[in-house]
Amino acid sequence: MEQGKRHLAGLFPEEIESQLDGVPAFRARQIFTWLHKHAVGSFRHMHNLPQDLIKLLEEVYQQVWPLELVTTRVSTDGTEKYLFALSDGGAVETVLLPEEDRQTLCISTQVGCAMNCSFCATGRSGYERNLTAGEIVAQVLYVQHRLRAEGKTLSNIVYMGMGEPLANYEAVLKSARLLNHPLGLNLGARRLTISTCGLAPQIRDLAEEDLQINLAVSLHAVEDGYRSEIMPINKRYPLGELLAACDYYTQRTNRRISYEYALISGFNDHPQHAEELGKLLQGRLCHVNLIPINPVGKEERPTAQRIAAFAQVLERMRIPVSIRKERGTDIEAACGQLRQRSLEGWS
Ligand code: SF4
Repeated sequence: MEQGKRHLAGLFPEEIESQLDGVPAFRARQIFTWLHKHAVGSFRHMHNLPQDLIKLLEEVYQQVWPLELVTTRVSTDGTEKYLFALSDGGAVETVLLPEEDRQTLCISTQVGCAMNCSFCATGRSGYERNLTAGEIVAQVLYVQHRLRAEGKTLSNIVYMGMGEPLANYEAVLKSARLLNHPLGLNLGARRLTISTCGLAPQIRDLAEEDLQINLAVSLHAVEDGYRSEIMPINKRYPLGELLAACDYYTQRTNRRISYEYALISGFNDHPQHAEELGKLLQGRLCHVNLIPINPVGKEERPTAQRIAAFAQVLERMRIPVSIRKERGTDIEAACGQLRQRSLEGWS
């Protein structure tokens, strides 16, 4: 990748126009459409642009994406994991979860993460920097480009890869608006899900945006002492404050919040915990997503019976619940694992 060159992936049509001094607005819109709607991998494939403009783009700008593929792994269940290198030598992971009726892409928002959740490979590797909006969007464009060749298209984007999305608020919001843009991929905000470990002030900020985006909140425990043990962010924004922000989000957007609950054997998987979780969420517009933990440290995953029993308690309490399908374990699917391997010399 050519270092030091700028790139266009993170710009709206008006921004492209103002950067390309003297180029008419309709040309800027054409460039945006080629990049985002058609997800072309080269300026040379922007067929309705004049040759001198293509030459100028090639001279001034980074090739279309500000990242390069380092390696891909494909699971026996179809899950695809991509490791991308950034221009400064950083690396991020992106995961495609193909299903019959949808293609979901899980994208990263930071290199590393400062939140230090105990069960997370990314958290263990520490925080390096925020991604730019262009680097976030480019993960989508790269995979979309690849899928196009198979006649497929991305249907859902989840901001659940490396990093805490709401700690990189401006770039994440801009990327969502770029993905939502009518001249681009035009992905409805309801097809975008932003996850958070619980940054209460930013949840309130998000509620004020004019975006009907889905919110997924990582809960993982229903008592402050327990939660702080595995998620240090809970010391800053304890459960009461977090849930008040979530209620505000629901009130402003009328969107159902997905509460993520990673089940850790012997820690938070007792039926009593399920009952406390049910009581906490009763009356809230919510859905619980139970995630059998993907062990990266000393934590262990509960048995399938234990997980089913947990779900049954919630069902009895009429809390909508699902158990996340385990995918890609053969390709280091836990967030941050592949990058960690690469940093350790695997490629
Ligand atoms: S789980 Fe998410 S918020 Fe927590 S350390 Fe990992 S990437 Fe960061």
